[in-house]
Amino acid sequence: MKRILAFGGVIIFLASCAHNKYTSTNKSYKKQVKNYAKLLGEYPIKDSAGLKYADNWVGTTNFSMRRPNFVVIHHTAQNFCDSTLRTFTLPRTAVSAHYVICKDGTVHHMLNDLLRAHHAGVSKWGNATDLNSMSIGIEIDNNGFEPFTEAQMNSLLQLLDRLKKAYNIPQANFIGHADVAPGRKVDPSRYFSWQTLAEKGFGFWFDTTNVEVPPDFNALQALRIVGYNINKPEIAIQSYKIHFVPQDTTRTISDADKKILFDLEKKYQ
Ligand SMILES: [Zn+2]
Repeated sequence: MKRILAFGGVIIFLASCAHNKYTSTNKSYKKQVKNYAKLLGEYPIKDSAGLKYADNWVGTTNFSMRRPNFVVIHHTAQNFCDSTLRTFTLPRTAVSAHYVICKDGTVHHMLNDLLRAHHAGVSKWGNATDLNSMSIGIEIDNNGFEPFTEAQMNSLLQLLDRLKKAYNIPQANFIGHADVAPGRKVDPSRYFSWQTLAEKGFGFWFDTTNVEVPPDFNALQALRIVGYNINKPEIAIQSYKIHFVPQDTTRTISDADKKILFDLEKKYQ
Protein backbone atom coordinates (compact mmCIF):
# COMPACT_ATOMS: atom_id res chain seq x y z
CA MET A 1 0.00 0.00 0.00
CA LYS A 2 1.25 3.51 -0.83
CA ARG A 3 0.34 6.73 0.86
CA ILE A 4 0.54 10.12 -0.81
CA LEU A 5 1.22 13.17 1.31
CA ALA A 6 1.17 16.70 -0.03
CA PHE A 7 3.29 19.42 1.58
CA GLY A 8 3.01 22.89 -0.01
CA GLY A 9 2.50 21.57 -3.49
CA VAL A 10 5.28 18.97 -3.25
CA ILE A 11 4.01 15.42 -3.48
CA ILE A 12 5.99 12.86 -1.58
CA PHE A 13 5.52 9.14 -2.09
CA LEU A 14 6.18 6.97 0.90
CA ALA A 15 6.24 3.19 0.71
CA SER A 16 4.17 1.89 3.58
CA CYS A 17 6.78 0.25 5.73
CA ALA A 18 7.12 -0.02 9.49
CA HIS A 19 10.00 2.46 9.48
CA ASN A 20 8.29 5.27 7.60
CA LYS A 21 7.16 6.89 10.81
CA TYR A 22 10.81 7.15 11.87
CA THR A 23 12.05 8.89 8.70
CA SER A 24 12.35 12.25 10.42
CA THR A 25 13.94 10.91 13.63
CA ASN A 26 16.39 8.89 11.52
CA LYS A 27 17.32 12.17 9.86
CA SER A 28 17.81 13.75 13.27
CA TYR A 29 20.07 10.82 14.25
CA LYS A 30 22.22 11.37 11.17
CA LYS A 31 22.45 15.10 11.83
CA GLN A 32 23.53 14.58 15.45
CA VAL A 33 26.15 12.01 14.46
CA LYS A 34 27.45 14.45 11.83
CA ASN A 35 27.84 17.13 14.51
CA TYR A 36 29.78 14.74 16.77
CA ALA A 37 31.96 13.68 13.81
CA LYS A 38 32.70 17.37 13.20
CA LEU A 39 33.69 17.75 16.86
CA LEU A 40 36.02 14.74 16.59
CA GLY A 41 37.57 16.21 13.44
CA GLU A 42 38.58 19.51 15.04
CA TYR A 43 42.24 20.25 14.53
CA PRO A 44 43.97 21.13 16.75
CA ILE A 45 41.38 19.95 19.26
CA LYS A 46 39.66 22.35 21.62
CA ASP A 47 40.12 20.60 24.93
CA SER A 48 36.69 19.82 26.34
CA ALA A 49 38.13 19.57 29.86
CA GLY A 50 38.95 23.30 29.61
CA LEU A 51 42.75 22.97 29.52
CA LYS A 52 44.72 25.22 27.16
CA TYR A 53 47.13 22.82 25.51
CA ALA A 54 46.11 23.47 21.87
CA ASP A 55 49.23 25.56 21.10
CA ASN A 56 51.46 22.56 21.67
CA TRP A 57 49.21 20.17 19.79
CA VAL A 58 50.87 17.21 18.04
CA GLY A 59 48.38 14.72 16.62
CA THR A 60 49.36 11.10 17.21
CA THR A 61 49.03 8.64 14.33
CA ASN A 62 47.90 5.74 16.49
CA PHE A 63 44.37 5.56 17.89
CA SER A 64 40.91 4.05 17.61
CA MET A 65 37.40 4.60 19.00
CA ARG A 66 36.72 3.94 22.72
CA ARG A 67 34.81 0.73 23.25
CA PRO A 68 32.07 -0.32 25.68
CA ASN A 69 33.17 -2.54 28.56
CA PHE A 70 29.83 -3.29 30.28
CA VAL A 71 26.34 -4.38 29.21
CA VAL A 72 23.38 -3.10 31.25
CA ILE A 73 20.09 -4.98 30.78
CA HIS A 74 16.66 -3.37 31.35
CA HIS A 75 12.98 -4.08 31.02
CA THR A 76 11.07 -1.26 29.34
CA ALA A 77 8.19 -1.04 31.87
CA GLN A 78 5.95 -0.44 28.86
CA ASN A 79 3.39 -2.70 27.20
CA PHE A 80 4.41 -2.50 23.56
CA CYS A 81 7.67 -2.38 21.65
CA ASP A 82 6.29 0.48 19.54
CA SER A 83 5.75 2.57 22.69
CA THR A 84 9.42 2.17 23.57
CA LEU A 85 10.62 3.02 20.06
CA ARG A 86 8.46 6.13 20.29
CA THR A 87 9.80 7.03 23.76
CA PHE A 88 13.38 6.74 22.51
CA THR A 89 12.71 8.95 19.47
CA LEU A 90 11.05 11.83 21.33
CA PRO A 91 13.69 14.45 22.32
CA ARG A 92 11.76 15.53 25.44
CA THR A 93 12.08 12.09 27.08
CA ALA A 94 15.93 12.32 26.95
CA VAL A 95 16.21 8.53 27.30
CA SER A 96 17.49 5.86 24.92
CA ALA A 97 19.20 2.49 24.59
CA HIS A 98 21.44 0.87 22.00
CA TYR A 99 19.08 -2.06 21.47
CA VAL A 100 15.38 -2.83 22.03
CA ILE A 101 14.22 -6.46 21.94
CA CYS A 102 10.51 -6.97 21.14
CA LYS A 103 8.40 -9.90 22.37
CA ASP A 104 8.67 -11.70 19.02
CA GLY A 105 12.47 -11.55 19.27
CA THR A 106 12.93 -8.66 16.81
CA VAL A 107 15.98 -6.60 17.74
CA HIS A 108 15.95 -2.88 16.97
CA HIS A 109 19.40 -1.30 16.91
CA MET A 110 18.93 2.38 17.80
CA LEU A 111 22.43 3.76 18.35
CA ASN A 112 25.97 2.94 17.22
CA ASP A 113 27.65 0.89 19.98
CA LEU A 114 30.48 3.43 20.12
CA LEU A 115 28.15 6.27 21.10
CA ARG A 116 26.68 6.98 24.55
CA ALA A 117 23.02 6.08 25.11
CA HIS A 118 21.03 7.56 27.98
CA HIS A 119 19.84 4.42 29.77
CA ALA A 120 21.58 3.95 33.13
CA GLY A 121 21.26 7.44 34.68
CA VAL A 122 22.88 7.97 38.08
CA SER A 123 24.68 4.68 38.57
CA LYS A 124 27.59 2.93 40.27
CA TRP A 125 29.09 -0.54 39.98
CA GLY A 126 32.32 -1.23 41.85
CA ASN A 127 34.33 1.94 41.33
CA ALA A 128 32.70 2.66 37.99
CA THR A 129 30.33 5.62 37.85
CA ASP A 130 28.68 7.05 34.73
CA LEU A 131 27.83 3.60 33.38
CA ASN A 132 26.33 5.30 30.30
CA SER A 133 29.84 6.24 29.16
CA MET A 134 31.17 2.71 29.30
CA SER A 135 28.22 0.43 28.57
CA ILE A 136 25.80 -0.90 25.98
CA GLY A 137 22.16 -0.52 27.07
CA ILE A 138 19.70 -3.25 26.10
CA GLU A 139 15.98 -2.77 26.73
CA ILE A 140 13.69 -5.81 26.68
CA ASP A 141 10.02 -5.12 25.91
CA ASN A 142 8.39 -6.21 29.17
CA ASN A 143 6.12 -4.35 31.59
CA GLY A 144 7.82 -5.76 34.68
CA PHE A 145 4.94 -8.03 35.70
CA GLU A 146 5.20 -10.76 33.07
CA PRO A 147 7.69 -13.43 31.99
CA PHE A 148 10.19 -12.69 29.23
CA THR A 149 9.45 -14.61 26.01
CA GLU A 150 11.62 -17.42 24.70
CA ALA A 151 12.13 -15.48 21.45
CA GLN A 152 13.39 -12.49 23.47
CA MET A 153 15.82 -14.58 25.48
CA ASN A 154 17.14 -16.26 22.31
CA SER A 155 17.69 -12.90 20.61
CA LEU A 156 19.26 -11.50 23.77
CA LEU A 157 21.74 -14.39 24.05
CA GLN A 158 22.75 -13.98 20.40
CA LEU A 159 23.23 -10.26 20.86
CA LEU A 160 25.24 -10.69 24.08
CA ASP A 161 27.48 -13.22 22.37
CA ARG A 162 28.23 -10.78 19.56
CA LEU A 163 28.90 -7.89 21.96
CA LYS A 164 31.10 -9.97 24.27
CA LYS A 165 33.28 -11.09 21.37
CA ALA A 166 33.35 -7.76 19.52
CA TYR A 167 34.40 -5.69 22.55
CA ASN A 168 36.03 -8.33 24.73
CA ILE A 169 33.61 -7.59 27.60
CA PRO A 170 34.48 -9.50 30.82
CA GLN A 171 31.95 -12.09 32.05
CA ALA A 172 31.45 -10.13 35.30
CA ASN A 173 30.38 -7.00 33.41
CA PHE A 174 26.95 -8.18 32.25
CA ILE A 175 24.63 -6.60 34.81
CA GLY A 176 21.14 -5.18 35.35
CA HIS A 177 19.85 -1.66 35.80
CA ALA A 178 18.74 -2.56 39.35
CA ASP A 179 22.32 -3.66 40.12
CA VAL A 180 23.83 -0.29 39.22
CA ALA A 181 21.00 1.91 40.52
CA PRO A 182 19.72 0.18 43.70
CA GLY A 183 16.59 1.69 45.22
CA ARG A 184 15.96 3.79 42.12
CA LYS A 185 15.48 0.92 39.65
CA VAL A 186 14.19 -2.67 39.83
CA ASP A 187 14.75 -3.81 36.24
CA PRO A 188 15.06 -6.35 34.79
CA SER A 189 12.40 -7.81 37.10
CA ARG A 190 12.45 -11.00 39.16
CA TYR A 191 11.12 -12.84 36.09
CA PHE A 192 14.49 -12.41 34.37
CA SER A 193 16.76 -15.46 34.55
CA TRP A 194 20.30 -14.32 35.28
CA GLN A 195 21.15 -17.98 35.88
CA THR A 196 20.43 -18.75 32.20
CA LEU A 197 22.74 -15.89 31.19
CA ALA A 198 25.51 -16.99 33.57
CA GLU A 199 25.36 -20.53 32.16
CA LYS A 200 26.15 -19.02 28.73
CA GLY A 201 29.01 -16.87 30.07
CA PHE A 202 27.26 -13.54 30.75
CA GLY A 203 27.56 -12.64 34.44
CA PHE A 204 28.25 -15.18 37.20
CA TRP A 205 26.05 -17.56 39.16
CA PHE A 206 26.71 -19.24 42.50
CA ASP A 207 27.28 -22.77 43.64
CA THR A 208 26.36 -23.33 47.28
CA THR A 209 27.16 -26.99 47.59
CA ASN A 210 30.13 -27.68 49.84
CA VAL A 211 30.40 -24.04 50.94
CA GLU A 212 31.72 -23.52 54.48
CA VAL A 213 31.11 -19.92 55.48
CA PRO A 214 33.66 -18.68 58.05
CA PRO A 215 32.08 -17.20 61.22
CA ASP A 216 33.63 -13.76 60.63
CA PHE A 217 32.30 -13.55 57.05
CA ASN A 218 31.09 -10.03 56.21
CA ALA A 219 28.15 -10.34 53.80
CA LEU A 220 27.88 -6.60 53.19
CA GLN A 221 31.53 -6.38 52.15
CA ALA A 222 30.91 -9.33 49.85
CA LEU A 223 28.09 -7.36 48.21
CA ARG A 224 30.58 -4.51 47.71
CA ILE A 225 33.14 -6.86 46.16
CA VAL A 226 30.50 -8.20 43.76
CA GLY A 227 29.94 -4.57 42.69
CA TYR A 228 26.97 -3.19 44.64
CA ASN A 229 26.98 0.31 46.06
CA ILE A 230 26.46 -0.46 49.78
CA ASN A 231 25.96 3.13 50.96
CA LYS A 232 22.38 2.15 51.76
CA PRO A 233 22.67 -1.54 52.73
CA GLU A 234 18.91 -2.32 52.59
CA ILE A 235 18.50 -1.28 48.97
CA ALA A 236 21.78 -2.93 47.96
CA ILE A 237 20.40 -6.16 49.46
CA GLN A 238 17.12 -5.63 47.59
CA SER A 239 18.93 -5.35 44.24
CA TYR A 240 21.07 -8.40 45.05
CA LYS A 241 17.88 -10.41 45.77
CA ILE A 242 16.18 -9.30 42.52
CA HIS A 243 19.22 -10.62 40.65
CA PHE A 244 20.31 -13.69 42.59
CA VAL A 245 17.38 -14.76 44.82
CA PRO A 246 14.31 -13.52 42.90
CA GLN A 247 11.79 -15.52 44.97
CA ASP A 248 12.88 -13.68 48.16
CA THR A 249 11.35 -10.22 48.57
CA THR A 250 12.91 -9.45 51.97
CA ARG A 251 15.78 -7.02 52.46
CA THR A 252 17.71 -9.08 54.98
CA ILE A 253 20.72 -11.38 54.70
CA SER A 254 19.91 -14.99 55.66
CA ASP A 255 22.33 -17.88 56.20
CA ALA A 256 21.50 -19.07 52.69
CA ASP A 257 22.48 -15.63 51.35
CA LYS A 258 25.79 -15.83 53.21
CA LYS A 259 26.58 -19.05 51.36
CA ILE A 260 25.65 -17.47 48.04
CA LEU A 261 27.70 -14.34 48.69
CA PHE A 262 30.71 -16.23 50.02
CA ASP A 263 30.78 -18.12 46.73
CA LEU A 264 29.94 -15.13 44.51
CA GLU A 265 32.58 -12.78 45.92
CA LYS A 266 35.30 -15.15 44.78
CA LYS A 267 33.96 -15.07 41.22
CA TYR A 268 33.65 -11.29 41.06
CA GLN A 269 37.07 -10.55 42.60
ZN1 LIG B 1 16.18 0.46 33.19
